[in-house]
Amino acid sequence: DKASTDLVNGLDWEKQQGLIPAVVQNHLSGKVLMLGYMDKAALEQTLATGDVTFFSRSKQRLWTKGETSGHTLKLVAVDKDCDNDSLLVQVLPNGPTCHKGTESCWLDGQAHPFLNNLAELIASRKGQSPESSYTASLFARGTKRIAQKVGEEGLETALAAATHDKEELINEASDLIYHLLVLLEDQQLSLSDITANLLARHQKAQRK
Ligand code: AMP
Ligand code: ZN
Ligand code: ZN
Ligand code: ZN
Repeated sequence: DKASTDLVNGLDWEKQQGLIPAVVQNHLSGKVLMLGYMDKAALEQTLATGDVTFFSRSKQRLWTKGETSGHTLKLVAVDKDCDNDSLLVQVLPNGPTCHKGTESCWLDGQAHPFLNNLAELIASRKGQSPESSYTASLFARGTKRIAQKVGEEGLETALAAATHDKEELINEASDLIYHLLVLLEDQQLSLSDITANLLARHQKAQRK
C-alpha cells in the first residue's frame, strides 16, 4: 500500500549503502530485543508478510527471523527515525528472540519503560520487613488492605476529576497506579498480563 511505499522510498538507502539498521522492540513490554539490518527487499518482504525479515550479512541472503527455530517476530509497526537512516520495528515475538534462548539479545541495560522498572522495584519490596518501606508495609498488611487502598485512590482520582483539580488529579492518579501495581504484584500478576489483555481487546475491536 501507499504507506509502505512511502516508508521504503523515504529511507536514505544510499547513506547506509543499502543496509538500514533495524532496532526490534517488543510492542507490549517495550524491551529492546535485537538489532538487524534490512535491505530494500527485506523491508518490503517484512511489510508484505508481517514476519520480520532481515538481510543477513553472515548468510548474505534474506533471512526471516525464526525460519528454522520457529521464533518469528510478528510485525506490529515500523517507523523510520528523524534522519531516515534507521528503523524501529515493533513486534510481538513468538518465543525467545535471541538464538541463545533469551528473550532479548541484551542481558543488561535494556530500555525498560519506567512503569516496568517501578513494578520491579515494588516486587523487590515483597517480604522485606514492614518497617523498611511503605511498600513493604503494604505487602505485610495483606491483600485486603492493598485492595482497600486501590478503592480509596480510585475514588480520590474520580473526585479530583469531578472538581476539575488538575494538580490533584495528577497526584491521585499517581497514587492509584502505584497502588494498582502493588495489588497486581500481591496477586502474582504483572503489567504484561494487563497489557496483553488490553492488546487482545484492541485487536478484537479492530477486526469489527
Ligand atoms: P532463526 O532465525 O531463529 O531460525 O535462527 C537461525 C539462525 O539465525 C541462528 O542459528 C543464528 O545464527 C541466527 N540468529 C537467530 N536469532 C538471532 C538474533 N537475535 N541475532 C542474531 N542472529 C540470530
Ligand atoms: Zn538516524
Ligand atoms: Zn542474540
Ligand atoms: Zn490519594
